[in-house]
Amino acid sequence: MNDKKLYPKKSLGQNFLQDPNIIRKIVDTVQPLPDETIVEIGPGRGAITSYLAGKCRELILIEFDQNLADTLQKEYETDRHVRIIRDDILKTDWKEFLPADKIVGNLPYNISSQILFTLYKHAMDVGEAVFMVQKEFARRLVAEPSTKDYGIMTILTRLYGQAEILFHIPPTVFFPRPKVDSSVVRIRLDSDNNQDIDDKAFFHQLVRTAFNQRRKTLRNSLKKITGDQSIPCMDLSLRADALTFEDFKRLYHILKRDLPASV
Ligand code: SAM
Repeated sequence: MNDKKLYPKKSLGQNFLQDPNIIRKIVDTVQPLPDETIVEIGPGRGAITSYLAGKCRELILIEFDQNLADTLQKEYETDRHVRIIRDDILKTDWKEFLPADKIVGNLPYNISSQILFTLYKHAMDVGEAVFMVQKEFARRLVAEPSTKDYGIMTILTRLYGQAEILFHIPPTVFFPRPKVDSSVVRIRLDSDNNQDIDDKAFFHQLVRTAFNQRRKTLRNSLKKITGDQSIPCMDLSLRADALTFEDFKRLYHILKRDLPASV
């Protein structure tokens, strides 16, 4: 794959994995099983793909770059267990390839948040995700309250599953080398979790509204939702980042129960 057309494109976040030990470590984490459907986002030059192909019932590759998708198409044209979708992961209809047991990928870092938000919309149809992301982004998934990393991404990740950081990866294992460190994270999506939050759209709105002005007290930041009504049993002098996930759930239920007109 030394074709000039395949020279890494910065705009598509193309930092290709080069180190076989790291690639094997990622694949060991994914643990592909013979009866599984696995989706890979951004297979690129196939560094991870080549270790997944042949190890699962169905492998679906979603690659935006036409040249890379064409090359993968040629490489796997005789493998009926591999399907390639040449599309933008943010625009394609995920129903075309879901349900899946696992979604994996060394993600284009500039669109990691959007990919996760889309994943969460489809949480019911995915078992788990193993992603390589920027280290700072990984920290946001598992952050504790009252830290700078704690925010919308943390709370929504808790709403849909459980995230863990598995290991970190230095820039040296990529070509070209990114300017940042990376981390491999696992997110187990749990569709039984938080079923009491039946209006997910409102929960999202609540969390976004609270964190959009994270330096303000809840009394001020939530005005858009509650107007001037007080919220019973909540300390409104706190800021959003002081609230645990359970506090956000409590706030959601209070608003749904006591202030239904505003939600
Ligand atoms: N998996 C390969 C590896 O580890 O070497 C490549 C990872 S590279 C960080 C990200 C990959 O995502 C690239 O192949 C890039 O072309 C692809 N990509 C970028 N934006 C995309 C999008 N919106 N939809 C699908 N694939 C995308």
